[in-house]
Amino acid sequence: MSDQSSTEPRNVIVIGSGPSGYTAAVYAARAALEPLVFEGSVTAGGALMNTTEVENFPGFRDGIMGPALMDEMRAQAERFGAELIPDDVVSVDLSGDVKVVRTETETYTARSVVLAMGSGYRRLGLEGEDLYSGKGVSWCATCDGFFFRDQEIAVVGGGDSAVEEATFLTRFAKKVYLIHRRDELRASAIMVERARADEKLEFVWNSEVTEIQGGDKLEGVTLRDTVTGDTRQLPVTGLFIAIGHDPRSELLTGQVDLDDEGYVQVRHPSTATNVPGVFAAGDLVDHHYRQAITAAGTGCAAALDAERYIADLD
Ligand code: FAD
Repeated sequence: MSDQSSTEPRNVIVIGSGPSGYTAAVYAARAALEPLVFEGSVTAGGALMNTTEVENFPGFRDGIMGPALMDEMRAQAERFGAELIPDDVVSVDLSGDVKVVRTETETYTARSVVLAMGSGYRRLGLEGEDLYSGKGVSWCATCDGFFFRDQEIAVVGGGDSAVEEATFLTRFAKKVYLIHRRDELRASAIMVERARADEKLEFVWNSEVTEIQGGDKLEGVTLRDTVTGDTRQLPVTGLFIAIGHDPRSELLTGQVDLDDEGYVQVRHPSTATNVPGVFAAGDLVDHHYRQAITAAGTGCAAALDAERYIADLD
């Protein structure tokens, strides 16, 4: 076991390896800051490692597979000298001028830290969910709606984002079922009104998805009536799960300001948190857009903010 805290602090440590983390790494490396990047032990590459084709990341006219896009970003960061560590950060102490970052076995220090740990989509917890991810099951209408032209699909959820996703998906799909556990929505009145006026949208009240079925691709779901307990089949080729997200900010409790839902608060338009030298980017901050390109954009901004912070220290 080595203890790197005895050595000189690094200029920048980046925690996270999605589009925001790797983009921060590319910019910091090209600014000769020799960033150290913690990629995570299981899911290096972030959320796009779990998807198939990405059609909306600029620069790829014919689209690119999610893992291939992340391999490119990773290789680009490495090419400019970012040091990548496939390990999880388990604790941080960000309060001092020298920031402390620990893995299970080692301690590292840096003058600045970019937080880029992303957020996790909440899951239904069903067996078929992973199996059909990218084959009909999706967590992102903006990303995948286009693939479901003229198909019958379903959205699960009852909040604003579920209703927004369902309404958005009616642009492409022949029919959209909005499946909700209760008989009224939590979404705001105006969203509900818009949804009710949409002829392609059908509400499926008091229902929960208990099974996801198909062959190579999704073919349908089993619904259970939450009042009577009856079950029935709903044949759909797409299932959008819109039951919320959780930012991966457990490490940060008591370290930087978080909002009520646990997202890191930054001083827009910068990526600065309330702690000097600590910057945050991507879906760890962003409730709203949650796209690879916006994550990459704020990752870039975080590296530039860190670069200026370090220049001011020198
Ligand atoms: P993430 O991509 O979530 O990456 C965060 C990384 O940090 C992860 O690798 C994680 O393991 C790591 N990490 C977390 N905690 C730690 C820790 N303690 N130590 C070390 N590492 C840690 N967007 C689009 O623009 N187009 C699409 O087509 C598209 N399709 C999608 C399909 C799916 C199935 C999903 C889930 C998302 C999709 N998105 C798409 C959204 C997009 O993937 C996200 O907006 C984007 O990946 C967010 O980037 P990020 O860098 O903030 O976080």
